[in-house]
Amino acid sequence: MTQRPRKALIIGAGIAGPVTAIFLKKAGIDVQLFEAWPHSTGIGGGLQIAPNGMHVLAEIGLADEMIRRGSIAESFDFYSQSGVRLGSVNQNMKARFGQPAVNMCRATLNEAILNKAWCDNVELAFEKRLVSIEDRADQPVIAHFADGTSAEGDFLIGADGVHSAVRQHVIPDGPQPFDTGLIGFGGFVPRSLIENSSIGQRVETTFGQSGFFGYGFCSSDSRDGVMWWSTQPAHGVAAATFRAMSQDAIKRHLLNFHAGWHDPIPRLLEAAENIVVTATLDVATLPTWSRKRTLLIGDAAHATSPHAGQGASLALEDAMRLGRLMQSEQELGVTFEAFENERRSRAERVVALARRNGNSKREFSATGAWIRDRMLKLLLPVTARGMDWMYAYDPRAV
Ligand SMILES: Cc1cc2nc3c(=O)[nH]c(=O)nc-3n(C[C@H](O)[C@H](O)[C@H](O)COP(=O)(O)OP(=O)(O)OC[C@H]3O[C@@H](n4cnc5c(N)ncnc54)[C@H](O)[C@@H]3O)c2cc1C
Repeated sequence: MTQRPRKALIIGAGIAGPVTAIFLKKAGIDVQLFEAWPHSTGIGGGLQIAPNGMHVLAEIGLADEMIRRGSIAESFDFYSQSGVRLGSVNQNMKARFGQPAVNMCRATLNEAILNKAWCDNVELAFEKRLVSIEDRADQPVIAHFADGTSAEGDFLIGADGVHSAVRQHVIPDGPQPFDTGLIGFGGFVPRSLIENSSIGQRVETTFGQSGFFGYGFCSSDSRDGVMWWSTQPAHGVAAATFRAMSQDAIKRHLLNFHAGWHDPIPRLLEAAENIVVTATLDVATLPTWSRKRTLLIGDAAHATSPHAGQGASLALEDAMRLGRLMQSEQELGVTFEAFENERRSRAERVVALARRNGNSKREFSATGAWIRDRMLKLLLPVTARGMDWMYAYDPRAV
């Protein structure tokens, strides 16, 4: 037993950062949270929080709010490019795993967790881009920011995402994020476009000969009630190249790519605005997640490509598990080691699964796509059961 650290510096106010701050405050630790960007309520895109992540939101009192402001996903259904139904997974999630899977706007989730952190007296600072960390014996850890300011604490948590600057400090010249060769496009369209269809609370997804498309309700707001996303082989074109194009040009590309796909896909794309383009990166494994008094969590430690729908839920799990471990008054290095021992195998298993799932969204020959669709139809019930381990994890019960 040693003296408990009193003050944490957390870098990154995405998902892992604010939620870790909330759990560290519960553990009696003061927290300063630093975000590189200005405060914004307009972070783009939608996402799904799985039951395992919803347990964490329930623990901090936000599950009901997110269900009310988002949309429960009653299943995840698969179709072929021409609209033939291939199967359905992820049904009865609440009955099976204690929480539903919930679609939501990333901005809504971010707003709710930041508000909660504020209410819990977390000190939040925006436009503070971490550039370096100093960790000398008998001195506090010092975080230096791009604007020339600095902050001191007893330890530092890197929750700064896939392009983590903290990772550079923990593992200088370590592995870089891996580009999986797929590009993601996404955004919202008005509810009215599918309100009278038979979709209900399902998330509908389509495997093309090349690429993938998905959509579902994510909010009660009439303007951004439906989230959609398109995943495509990059064919060597960087996401940044698309981001440099006008919205009209991106939309033309998407309409062209998905031409002839079943209804309502072209209709949704016609209505798309403010399209977000993302590279599909992951971090399969790092030699270590910590160095002295600095620890990596969330995407900074184990970024996953989005094809398992788990990155945000893993980040939430990390936050809660770290908070719980920090309650035991162990030496910091011991706690960091316990955290990595507990979390690494699960996180890396998800990253590997997501990479495998991404492979079915690449380019196929017409025959290859036909075979893939038949295989999916046949194997979906089995593969669905093989994913239960992700959703059945309850971070409160570890
Ligand atoms: C297209 C797409 C769709 C996805 N869909 C899903 C989904 O449906 N379900 C799901 O569970 N997951 C999904 N994910 C994954 C999920 O978004 C991430 O796993 C999750 O956001 C990780 O949270 P995080 O807090 O670790 O990192 P982030 O959310 O990336 O937050 C990191 C924060 O750190 C800040 N930052 C970065 N560098 C610095 C610096 N130097 N100084 C200070 N601050 C810094 C960033 O600005 C950011 O705010 C998706 C990802 C993508 C790309």
